[in-house]
Amino acid sequence: MSMFDLTGKVAIVTGGNGGIGLGIAEGLAECGASVLLTGRNAKKGEAAARKIGAKAAFEVADVARQADCARLVQVAVAKFGRLDILVNNAGISIRKTPQDFTEADWHRVIDTNLSGTFFLCQAAYPEFRRVGGGKIINIASVNAILGAPHNVPYAASKGGVAAMTRGLATAWAGDNIQVNAILPGWVETEMTDSAKAHIPGLTEYVVARTPAGRWGKPRDLAGLAVFLAGPSSDWVTGTSMLCDGGYSIRA
Ligand code: NDP
Repeated sequence: MSMFDLTGKVAIVTGGNGGIGLGIAEGLAECGASVLLTGRNAKKGEAAARKIGAKAAFEVADVARQADCARLVQVAVAKFGRLDILVNNAGISIRKTPQDFTEADWHRVIDTNLSGTFFLCQAAYPEFRRVGGGKIINIASVNAILGAPHNVPYAASKGGVAAMTRGLATAWAGDNIQVNAILPGWVETEMTDSAKAHIPGLTEYVVARTPAGRWGKPRDLAGLAVFLAGPSSDWVTGTSMLCDGGYSIRA
């Protein structure tokens, strides 16, 4: 058996209807997994599932709503019979100076990026126990460890995701559930299109600072996600792995 074979495994990928989530979902499907993609935009979601093919389905869900998270797990099990892998990738960023954030802005970012991740982990837990184990991959950010002036709530949410990852890993290791986080650097997606519009010179800055000399593409995250979703990582848990072309190690 290949160390990266996911045949017969079933994954939920939140925010799998575009960007990094779709790149990861494609990688999981290519290695044999069935994938349930989620997001709020059904049109994008149906198109993404069609792109992946017969092993994929899409379900509308808002991860900030606990009831939607519980329903997603039920849908994955109804469609594919089980759940083995959860990729908490759905996320938003609001860019403002800290003093200008409203209470509603703060809650939108935290509810989606941090609370949504926690609710879905909770919802998946009984199903992971039923099948004898599971893999949780939380998509955090280099902003979990690097400061930036215009996305303080986002950074707080991603630092929280990394901390939550360690806590859940300790809580559920005895259930054969491995919980890890990926910290992507700058990746070309709709999220960073809006950052480029907001920060003059960002495109060139990222290329110049990144030792790899380029922006990431959604598929650059797929290999690490496949590793963390499969048997090769059975003794890896609680880690936060950088995947950023070296952006964060540059002095
Ligand atoms: P995109 O904006 O392209 O994708 C975000 C995805 O999240 C969309 O599929 C969106 O779908 C979904 N989403 C947002 N809010 C919700 C919600 N409440 N419920 C369900 N789904 C939701 O961004 P990226 O692909 O760039 O980002 C993916 C993840 O990677 C995020 O967590 C982001 O913070 C993280 N990241 C991205 C980096 C980058 O450079 N791009 C760098 C570091 C981390 P819909 O709108 O249909 O709901």
